[in-house]
Amino acid sequence: MKGNGTQPFAAERFSMVESQLRQRGIRDERLLAAMSKVPRHEFVSRQNWNEAYADHPIPIAEKQTTSQPYMIAAMVQAAEIKPEDRVLEIGAGSGYQTALLAELASQVFAVERYVSLAEAAQKTLERLGYRNAKIVTGDGSLGLPEAAPFDAIIVSAAAPRIPQALMDQLAVGGRLLIPVGEADQQVLQLVQRQADGSTTVRTLEGCRFVPLIGEQGF
Ligand code: SAH
Repeated sequence: MKGNGTQPFAAERFSMVESQLRQRGIRDERLLAAMSKVPRHEFVSRQNWNEAYADHPIPIAEKQTTSQPYMIAAMVQAAEIKPEDRVLEIGAGSGYQTALLAELASQVFAVERYVSLAEAAQKTLERLGYRNAKIVTGDGSLGLPEAAPFDAIIVSAAAPRIPQALMDQLAVGGRLLIPVGEADQQVLQLVQRQADGSTTVRTLEGCRFVPLIGEQGF
């Protein structure tokens, strides 16, 4: 650990932003600033602190992972989050991406199917002072109808197809980012709701996420 006391791992965050993100085409300055700020190590167990800012996913409880920083950045950048946006995240996991979204949006709801992960994530977010982020335990393949519509929905787990429930909860102009495909290999898809209510789907890049387990998942 190389922290300097007041800002532990600031150097690791800086090098993550420069070498993993900026060099690979992440250009959203608000997002890069958020990734320079959010203490990713606080979202993983202490035994993984030495690799908290490394270029790969990191194991968390319940055999899940917090995604590779670049993958998180690519999804959040494609979601074009604005300060006034209300955002839904499916698969909160560690809560790391939730914290990034809380830096960028006005309100974040994040659904997680494991109670243990949801509770731990909420605790970490509260400890770090994020008051605009709420973790809900449940089946996120059905979205969060009681808080819909959302300006952006980011799904951090892979689905066999795009759940209709999530498309239905997109506001006009809203963006949905979701890995779609087989259990072990997917493509990232961007769904946008148009002014006339229709949706367009665009395929971005290849990716590999843990499966979305649920009614409209695997
Ligand atoms: N962005 C998170 C990624 C966590 S991995 C992070 O950085 O930590 C994906 C998460 O999706 C896992 O925690 C898994 O439990 C959760 N998940 C899978 N299916 C789900 C579902 N139907 N509803 C809510 N969460 C789900």
